[in-house]
Parts: sequence; structure tokens; C-alpha cells
Amino acid sequence: MSNVRVRFAPSPTGFLHVGGVRTALFCWLFARHHGGTFILRIEDTDQARSTPEAVELILDGLRWLGLDWDEGPYYQTRRFDLYKKGVEKLLADGNAYRCYCTPEELEAQRAHALAEKRVPKYDGRCRHLEHQPERPHTVRFAAPQEGVAVVHDLIRGDVTFDNAQLDDLIIARSDGTPTYNFTVVMDDADMGITHVIRGDDHLNNTPRQAALFKALGHELPQFAHLPMIHGPDKRKLSKRDGAASVTDYREEGMLPEALVNYLARLGWSHGDQEFFTVAELIQKFSLEAVGKSPAVFDRAKLLWLNAQHLKAADPIRIMRMVEERLVRDGIAIGADVADAFRRKVFAAACERSRTVPEMADMVASFYRDTVTIDPEAAKKGFKGEPLLVLDKVMEKLAGLPAFDQPTLEQAFQELMDETGQGLGKLAQPARTALTGRQVSPGIYEVLEILGKERALARLAAAKEWIRANPAG
Ligand code: GLU
Repeated sequence: MSNVRVRFAPSPTGFLHVGGVRTALFCWLFARHHGGTFILRIEDTDQARSTPEAVELILDGLRWLGLDWDEGPYYQTRRFDLYKKGVEKLLADGNAYRCYCTPEELEAQRAHALAEKRVPKYDGRCRHLEHQPERPHTVRFAAPQEGVAVVHDLIRGDVTFDNAQLDDLIIARSDGTPTYNFTVVMDDADMGITHVIRGDDHLNNTPRQAALFKALGHELPQFAHLPMIHGPDKRKLSKRDGAASVTDYREEGMLPEALVNYLARLGWSHGDQEFFTVAELIQKFSLEAVGKSPAVFDRAKLLWLNAQHLKAADPIRIMRMVEERLVRDGIAIGADVADAFRRKVFAAACERSRTVPEMADMVASFYRDTVTIDPEAAKKGFKGEPLLVLDKVMEKLAGLPAFDQPTLEQAFQELMDETGQGLGKLAQPARTALTGRQVSPGIYEVLEILGKERALARLAAAKEWIRANPAG
């Protein structure tokens, strides 16, 4: 194992959304690429907003995507002793001080600054006060006031911040609980994090955190801030565009490897390659190839990638997912479904489906005993003289010695020659009769999957249906 140590540090205040999981993925890929350690840290110090349900959603989402962690989950709420020691050290070294200002005083200072059109900033008035143990207080970090802080970012290069802009950050609240920027630094130092990889909404925290690292006597980790993810309108990602919980994608029937592939391309690229297996991503991932500009979430592309991964996946695995859906839709699936059948159904449907539910819809009729004919499909499928066509098809099929695709193709060729009709005229009524739908896998595949007996029974049942539902 290399010494690379990265962490994903979500705050469990909501579901794991696309932005969060993209950060997790980049951390994980970086760790795996370098043979390093991927650490999961739950930043739950905001106890009012953190929930155990949100933690579960995060763990569940990461597990589903296969982003396994080597250490953790660590919970910040269980590490208060460490933070307390850090606060004491900073106080003892003169790098922090107690602030006795009340919330009202702070608000008045703020209002005053705004009235004078100044950027509100704590003025450090408690920096040099004697300790008054009986008075309620917060603890503030004595941030550097002069000069500039230059943060080297692996994606953005050197980013310069004016120290005069930095507030004396509160590191412990009046109830003694530590605050966000401080716990992050304490943990990153304690956990030996070598690379902090996170969304660039955290870039502004970095100079504060860098100053804290220095004051605590720790070496800085390297920083990499990932570009934001925008919606197609180039604005902040909305729920509709894809800011939904990652587990919603599982519900929708997306494959985890497709989502991983898609998320990896949000900000990272490797030439113009779009399709990647997870192993390829691990091999090719590098922070140097992460762009600076915001990535745009594109649902159509996610669907396209999902279709590619669906085709490339193990047919039996996919068919089991499809069958799960079918069971949910109320279709009884016998214990005796053969893998050979599954492989045939998969081969017939994978080219025409982008997601597992689409595939389930496409193949449901193969799993049903009888077909329910969609009246819309019937309007198009049973045009002209459907009874005559179905009779001819049945007659031909009944006499076939075998029921494989080449034999079936040959049979339809003969039917075309005999009747002078095109394939569409013959196949469309048959397709509608066999599947109840307008769109289905190819007619020869459908027939082969059903087998002679079931196919003939369906064709006969369709004739009944047509007689009972005369057109027009
Ligand atoms: N807990 C922070 C968040 O969820 C991340 C902190 C970090 O990565 O430094 O946004």
C-alpha cells in the first residue's frame, strides 16, 4: 500500500446527491489508483441537522456503487476528546483566545459594518483579554491578519487569499462543541490525510484550514478542489436534472457501473473515451486530467451510457434484476427459469433497452402465460386482414421441423414469396399477437424464445381477440 490517504467526509444532513457522490468517487478512484487508503468520515457535529437515516443513505449509496472504504466510518461526534485537546493546545500556544462577545454584541458589530459598507468581520476585540472563567465564551482562532495565504491546489494551481479578509474563526462554541473548519483540520491531521479532494464550494475554507494546520504544527495535505456540477441551464443542479439521491437511480433501474462511469466523466476526461469499466477508471484516473470549469449534468448521456453498460453486463445478472422488477409488477416467476432462456431473452432485448425497467417492460410477455393486447398496438398491428395473415403464419409455423432463428427466417422468406407481401405486413400482426406490443425484439427472436407451442397458442388467442374487438 502506498502512503496515499484520502477521505470522503460527508455531512449526514440529507441524501447522498450527485455532487457528493462524485466527490466520493474521485477520492476512491484516486486512492485505488495509487494503492492508497480510502477513509470514510461522517461529519455529524451539526447535531441539529444530522440524522442516522442520512448516514444510512450515504452508506447504502456508497455500497451500491461499490465505493468500498478501508477505514471508518469515523463519526466526528465520537471524537470530541481529540478536538478538545486541539482547542487547549491552540489556547496554550496563544494561537486561540476566548471571546466573550454575546450574540447581540456580534450582531450589532455586524450591522455597524454593513451600515458603513464594510464587509462584516469580527474585529478581534477579545484577542488580548484576560481569561474570565465565569463568563460564557466561545474560542476563536487567532488567524493571521497580514499578508496573503497562497494555497496550492492540484486542479486550480496557486490560489491567493488576502489574510485581511479572514475572520478569527470560532473553533469552539459556548457549549464547548467544536466547529466545522476546526474538526476537519483536526481529523485530517490525525488521520494522516495526504490529499484533500472535495468540491470547490470548499475552496474558501482552505486558507483558514491551512492556517489552522500550521498553528497546530502539522504539515499541510495537498488540496484538490473539484469543479461544480451544473444543470443543463448552466445553473446549480436541480433535483429534476439529477441532484436527486443516488439511490433514486437504483430505483430507476440504472446500473451502478453506468452511474460510476457517468460521474467519473463529470469533470474528468481521458481523451474522447466515454465508456469505461470500473477497472479502467481506476487505471486511468488522475487529478491532472480533472478540468477547472463546471461540468454539466446531462441525463441523456447517462441513459446512453447505461444502455452501453447494460449490453456489456453479465446477462444472468441483468435478467435477475429484470425478473425482480417483473415480480414487483405482479408477474409470477417460476423457480425453474432456465439460464439458457434468460440468455436468449437478454440477447433479444438488450439492444432495444436503455434501463432495466425498460427491459422488463420489453420482455414481460415472455414471462406471462398469456398476452394482454394493447389496443393502441392492435390499431397499428392488426390493420388490413389480420385474420388471414395470422392464419397463414400459423399454418407455416405449425409445419416447421425446428423453431430456431435461421429456420424461422427461412419460413418467413417463403411466406413472403408465397403471398407477395413484405415482411412488415406479415411480421407486425404476428408481433402484436405474440407480445401484445408494437415494439418488441425481432420477430424471429420472439418466436424462438416462446417456442412453437406457446407461439401458436398466442396466435390463436389473438385471432379470438380480433374477432371480439372488430376494428373501427
Ligand atoms: N463535510 C463537508 C461536506 O459535506 C466536507 C468537508 C471536506 O471535505 O472537507 O460538505
